[in-house]
Amino acid sequence: MAYLSFKNINKIYPNGFHAVHNFNLEVEKGEFIVFVGPSGCGKSTTLRMVAGLENISDGEFDIDGTRVNEMGPKERGIAMVFQSYALYPQMSVYDNLAFSLTLEGVDEDVIKEKVERVAAILGLTPYLDRLPRALSGGQRQRVAVGRAIIRKAKIFLMDEPLSNLDAKQRVTMRSEILQIHKETESTTIYVTHDQIEAMTMASRIVVMKEGYIQQVGSPYDLYFNPANVFVAGFIGEPPMNFVRGKVSGGTLAYGTNKLDLSFKLTKEQLKEYEGRDIVFGFRPEGAELTKVDDAYKIKANVELTEMLGDNVNVYLDVNGEKSIIKVNPHDEPEMDTDLDFYIPYKNAYLFDGKTELVIK
Ligand code: ATP
Repeated sequence: MAYLSFKNINKIYPNGFHAVHNFNLEVEKGEFIVFVGPSGCGKSTTLRMVAGLENISDGEFDIDGTRVNEMGPKERGIAMVFQSYALYPQMSVYDNLAFSLTLEGVDEDVIKEKVERVAAILGLTPYLDRLPRALSGGQRQRVAVGRAIIRKAKIFLMDEPLSNLDAKQRVTMRSEILQIHKETESTTIYVTHDQIEAMTMASRIVVMKEGYIQQVGSPYDLYFNPANVFVAGFIGEPPMNFVRGKVSGGTLAYGTNKLDLSFKLTKEQLKEYEGRDIVFGFRPEGAELTKVDDAYKIKANVELTEMLGDNVNVYLDVNGEKSIIKVNPHDEPEMDTDLDFYIPYKNAYLFDGKTELVIK
């Protein structure tokens, strides 16, 4: 039996807006689940239903086999960190961290030990006597995380907890949160719109769009086996290149290049898709500059190059179609020159032009 069980959960707000549709998910104890998707896709709404801050319009949510739809936030044994972390402004960092334990009547000595330990993990030891207003945004966010982890809750919810940090702090906090997760073994649901955060932190990712789950899977799975055009384009930076076109004589036009789809589709599929739209996709790093066997050869023109150190992003014009490929920094091509590149068949993805689902 799964630890958290979402059964056909729907959320319809009082104004009639249907924010979450038929959300189904089973989460095992100790998993680190990330909900990811663009703004407004229903991530926070779903998280708030888990927390008990938002009622569930339809469906059932179970924790450890018990239906909790009707339970208030306090009864669910959940700790939360939100984007807008409300610290108590008149209390020191120490008291902010200690607050929930003090309320529970925990022994002063035990509180002291726990506060000091959490402060050490989060690098807050020098600031324990300060008031929140005398901290940077990043330090305040650490206090908010600390306040949640100190309770050793079984379930830990985080809604964009790193949004106020700069890029470097974010990377550090990512690994700190993972370390804490390893130590506490708490089941975690983490909400972000940042696919890199999702890829680097999650044991499984739930990709959402407009209130619907698009795909659930490990970071590896989502990257290499995307279920549809949306997931393929959302995960990965720069995103996957897409070429949309009508299938004609078993080929797809990519600029003036003709992509022979018989390398990817069966005879029956080719027949089925003749005259219909198909989306051809390949990742920037899935292209090669040197000739390889079993690959599409494509003629292009180099518009722009971006040297990033570990690789170069090459912006290409393929007779009016744009693409980006990543190449080795030592192979940086000249701008405004012609260039052939190769996409091994195994690196090419095909999607149905209408449903946008991957064609297997
Ligand atoms: P973000 O990344 O911007 O926080 P999100 O994916 O977390 O986005 P939600 O906050 O869950 O999105 O909102 C989902 C949809 O529900 C949005 O279109 C939002 O406008 C709508 N919504 C949120 N709260 C309410 C409400 N109280 N009443 C009506 N609609 C709401």
